[in-house]
Amino acid sequence: MIETRPKSPVSEPLEQGLYIVATPIGNLGDITLRAVDILQRCDLVACEDTRVTGKLLSHLGISAKMRRYDDHSSDGQRAELIEAVRAGAVALVSDAGTPLISDPGARLVRDAREAGVVVTTLPGACAAIAGLTLAGLPNDRFLFGGFLPVKEKARGEVLRELGVTKATLIFYETGPRLVKSLNAIAGELAGRQIAVARELTKLHEECRSGIAEELIEHYTEHPPKGEIVLLIGPAPEDVAVGDPDILLREALEEMSPSKAAAQVAKATGQDRKALYARAVELKTA
Ligand code: SAM
Repeated sequence: MIETRPKSPVSEPLEQGLYIVATPIGNLGDITLRAVDILQRCDLVACEDTRVTGKLLSHLGISAKMRRYDDHSSDGQRAELIEAVRAGAVALVSDAGTPLISDPGARLVRDAREAGVVVTTLPGACAAIAGLTLAGLPNDRFLFGGFLPVKEKARGEVLRELGVTKATLIFYETGPRLVKSLNAIAGELAGRQIAVARELTKLHEECRSGIAEELIEHYTEHPPKGEIVLLIGPAPEDVAVGDPDILLREALEEMSPSKAAAQVAKATGQDRKALYARAVELKTA
């Protein structure tokens, strides 16, 4: 059944509140009818970059008042925006895609909800979901990991921690870092099926699948341009979260039993002391 939020006729002002508005991730045709309607009728558009959003609005033939809002905005600026939400309709957009998804807005939404004002969402394009639909990897469960850390050690830790889940992992990635991340995956999650979804919805959209080594070879020869979603297929059945021996053995190759136990406890949620006892057994076996 399709439900519609009661909406005022186009000529009437919008209900006061915060409207979280998804915008396209490349193809401007992906803006929704509802997003256009709200952007046309709102009193203020809160955006990361007035130049980027200004271009979208001008493409849509909309001249709206804009105010910059991002993660660097002060508490005071956020409080002012909440006042604007009390007084009128404020649309929150990011440069592209769904606000709050690896983009600013979480604190604003939290404060708006706490202030008791209307907060509503207008879903639309999101690169993570677009990548998942294109990758052909299992999608009954997926885990969005945002951007992988830039530093090698932290990146390895995240891959080890999330890699034990029976879910397809989704990360945002940049062209210059792709091969480094693929190398890390080759080391930490060997043999997994991977998909690199690039320039989604744009002219040069592509999705290339394979294991890490195949993709490393390709992207070393053809350095990738543009925006990327990196997807990693789920842990194979034999890496059972309930059976941490495989993880402990891997960890013991690089670290002490105590550190290995701490790492596997973090990754699996299992008892650290029991894991430590098992790590010592494995080490001395
Ligand atoms: N909020 C956005 C969303 O809903 O997808 C994501 C914002 S995040 C700052 C930007 C990252 O999203 C890019 O670095 C890239 O990893 C991914 N991304 C955005 N647009 C994309 C596209 N057209 N194709 C592939 N990845 C994209």
